[in-house]
Amino acid sequence: MAKHRTSGAEARDHCDVAIIGAGVIGSAVAMALGERGLSAALIDLDLSGRLSSSERNAGGVRATWWQPVNIALSRESIRHYESIRAEIGFRQKGYLILYDGARWAEALRMMPIQRDLDHPIEALTPREVAARVPEIDRLDGIAGATFSAGDGLINSNLLKAHYREKARASRVRLIDRVFVHGIEAGQSEACLFGWQASSAMNDAQVARLLAQDDDGAPAFGRPIEIRAGAIVIAAGAWAPNVLKLIGLDSPTAAVRRQLCVVDSRSVTLENYGMIFDTSGVYFHNDGPHILAGYSPPAEPPGYSFKFDGEDFFNREIWPRMYARASCFERLRFISGWAGLYEMTPDRSGILGQAAPRIFEAHSFSAHGVMQSYAVGQELAELIVNGRFRNPEVRGLGRERFATGKLLYEELHW
Ligand SMILES: Cc1cc2nc3c(=O)[nH]c(=O)nc-3n(C[C@H](O)[C@H](O)[C@H](O)COP(=O)(O)OP(=O)(O)OC[C@H]3O[C@@H](n4cnc5c(N)ncnc54)[C@H](O)[C@@H]3O)c2cc1C
Repeated sequence: MAKHRTSGAEARDHCDVAIIGAGVIGSAVAMALGERGLSAALIDLDLSGRLSSSERNAGGVRATWWQPVNIALSRESIRHYESIRAEIGFRQKGYLILYDGARWAEALRMMPIQRDLDHPIEALTPREVAARVPEIDRLDGIAGATFSAGDGLINSNLLKAHYREKARASRVRLIDRVFVHGIEAGQSEACLFGWQASSAMNDAQVARLLAQDDDGAPAFGRPIEIRAGAIVIAAGAWAPNVLKLIGLDSPTAAVRRQLCVVDSRSVTLENYGMIFDTSGVYFHNDGPHILAGYSPPAEPPGYSFKFDGEDFFNREIWPRMYARASCFERLRFISGWAGLYEMTPDRSGILGQAAPRIFEAHSFSAHGVMQSYAVGQELAELIVNGRFRNPEVRGLGRERFATGKLLYEELHW
């Protein structure tokens, strides 16, 4: 792990809040702080986010969750996304989730709770599924389905750009090519220590530094120091490495997830939003193609970006899609990529104060894009006013791993 403290920083800065990590979560926090009149520095080793999960996700947005706090964070975010729909490419075409017998009873039990939280959702029989999506002609193993018209798909890059543009218009500065390798938190202020690279780095260099697999590479840049009233750790799958800098643990594990771009030939899914199959495969229309993903349960933790390519498609994606719809017989693999989930033991995110002057917002594995707006707003409220607006959000604090009050999110793939 990197342990370089700057003895003589070549650049010093000061702001109300320094945010480590400029993915959708860090960018949403920056916007929310800027809206409240605070000055902030939004810092990243790679502002373009080549390895970030914000760059490598499936673009799904749903309030169809089973934990009330997850429903609430998504609902609030969706209301914001609706207000800027065109700017962020928000296509509200719904989520169709197919359930097997093991999960269907729970899905039905959750529907009144989801509706109470202002999330319209309907139950479908297998026949109704086939009537609504005629492409799905193999109904084996489907006990029922839910359809939620308010859910949909988003362009996460446009969303991040929206947050950053709003942030820049206030008192937020974006600082690129800074690797944060040290943090000190005192009574009156906190300080972060970093190296700012003088030139662009390639993916391998970025990956090594973020994983803290080397010594912090002091040779390639200049030392910098940023003093702030508070520090926010929004470092995604790398948050545990950053938390270690102040001696804090995180139960988060980085886990590789792979997505495939598929040529669908004569099949178009453009009238539908996201479809989740009972087998765990999920897919949606993506321009002229289909984007399809699957999360193998046995994937080991680690910072791996290796994409298994056509082999992954042939092994995990195609058999499941074809088993559900005969029209997928001639699907053809085009390309794909791997990215990182940030998995907590209960599959819910971590949001709150980690230590005096240190706040954290990370590990929103598989829901970071869709919940980012509300996460940013809630954390800004905590920093500025000392409490969340929605008291349910308190449950997302790190204390839950010690007290055992986990928020296990079962509707997670
Ligand atoms: C395959 C896949 C599919 C997904 N599908 C969906 C989906 O459909 N819908 C959804 O809502 N979510 C989805 N997700 C999850 C979602 O993408 C993430 O939860 C979200 O992007 C996390 O955003 P973040 O800002 O917390 O982290 P990131 O976007 O990963 O950003 C973290 C940033 O921190 C920076 N950083 C880390 N350490 C340091 C350091 N020491 N110094 C400087 N900078 C540092 C990194 O460079 C990075 O840019 C998916 C994820 C994957 C991988």
